[in-house]
Amino acid sequence: MKQYDVIVVGGGIHGAGVLQAAAAAGHSGLLIEKRAIASGTSSRSSKLIHGGLRYLESGQFALVRESLHERAVHLRVAPDLVELKPFFIPIYADTRRRPWQLKLGLFVYALLGGFDPSTRFGSVPKRDWPTLDGLETRNLDEVIRYYDAQTDDAELTRAVIDSARSLGGELAMPAKFTAASLNDDGVTVTFECAGANTDCRARVLVNAAGPWAPSVASAIRPAIPIPNVDLVQGTHIVLPMRLTSGIYYVESPSDGRAVFVMPWQGATLIGTTETPYHGEPDRVQPLPEEEEYLLAVARHYFPAFSAMTRADIVRRFAGLRVLPAASQAAFDRSRETIFTTDRDPNPRVLGIYGGKLTGWRAAAAHVLERIGPSLGARPRRAATDQLPLRRARP
Ligand SMILES: Cc1cc2nc3c(=O)[nH]c(=O)nc-3n(C[C@H](O)[C@H](O)[C@H](O)COP(=O)(O)OP(=O)(O)OC[C@H]3O[C@@H](n4cnc5c(N)ncnc54)[C@H](O)[C@@H]3O)c2cc1C
Repeated sequence: MKQYDVIVVGGGIHGAGVLQAAAAAGHSGLLIEKRAIASGTSSRSSKLIHGGLRYLESGQFALVRESLHERAVHLRVAPDLVELKPFFIPIYADTRRRPWQLKLGLFVYALLGGFDPSTRFGSVPKRDWPTLDGLETRNLDEVIRYYDAQTDDAELTRAVIDSARSLGGELAMPAKFTAASLNDDGVTVTFECAGANTDCRARVLVNAAGPWAPSVASAIRPAIPIPNVDLVQGTHIVLPMRLTSGIYYVESPSDGRAVFVMPWQGATLIGTTETPYHGEPDRVQPLPEEEEYLLAVARHYFPAFSAMTRADIVRRFAGLRVLPAASQAAFDRSRETIFTTDRDPNPRVLGIYGGKLTGWRAAAAHVLERIGPSLGARPRRAATDQLPLRRARP
């Protein structure tokens, strides 16, 4: 039976990151993905590598600081995949967040980002408003500009996998994890590939199956603790209009939630929603009422969308957030990643629940730190904050 230091379930950004971090630390690793790289949540995000300005409102300062640091790392190691873009926040007479609140938030953002030039912000002069992609200017008091980054989430995930493989990480795909059994010094993992069952041994199994993580964890014997999480669906729609100036960060006119209106592959990507989800993760899809909600945002802020209906939507997709179970609205819940182990020290299983696209490298570094005692020391091959990430050639 083949033996690895680490076996990872899930070829999303977290699984890719863990495979890369393990390989960089000198460990052997195998990643098992049932469909395709980034076929889950990691191709259905808002595609932002960002500090998360709105997380300041809920006091998640450590998360924002780490995310801004990770944004800087991305801009350095993946310049052809991650691009700094102007973000515009229009403030109308009836906008809930007032200019002083936003400027205070942006000052804290800049502080947490070490006052790097990329954290600069200011107001767009009124004479430049006509350059803002036809943004509604009736009752407009001010437009604030700051900077954050945009990526192609699926391309980024593929680039991390390529980096991991160049360091010796292995990939089984399509291959579906079906079971694992724990023993004193590791785990036997069973997966189904090309109609046959294969068994492999590892010192540690990392469950990076995103919204499928609870179901992967439930196939491990003896049973391990599974955190209490909720799945919350987020939908995006694409409308046929080219935005050229930047990304708009607006409040939904119906409930005040923050929604992004972004240039994306020659069209406009609008998202996202937050709808509790109780079904099978494989079946998630945009709901008509979510599409109407996003269309209403687009129509409210951009007169050019005013006649558009669901028939004009050129693409739609939905992904699932994994959030700590709670009664409060999804929008206000912590976005910190939850890590669980079967035992400490020397875990044989580590589960990753939730998290952000932006924080994948920091999450992977944390995983390696937690499972390090089970793996033992190996000569390090590379540091992940120095490894270039490149767009795969078609
Ligand atoms: C609507 C939305 C918008 C978001 N926007 C942003 C954003 O703009 N910026 C940001 O930083 N973060 C954002 N996020 C968060 C970010 O997208 C996720 O945290 C991240 O993509 C999760 O990646 P993952 O690897 O944990 O899971 P996934 O990408 O879902 O990967 C899990 C993988 O496991 C595989 N799998 C499942 N079961 C098995 C099995 N039995 N065997 C083998 N493989 C299996 C699946 O096929 C899948 O590929 C957003 C999330 C959502 C839902």
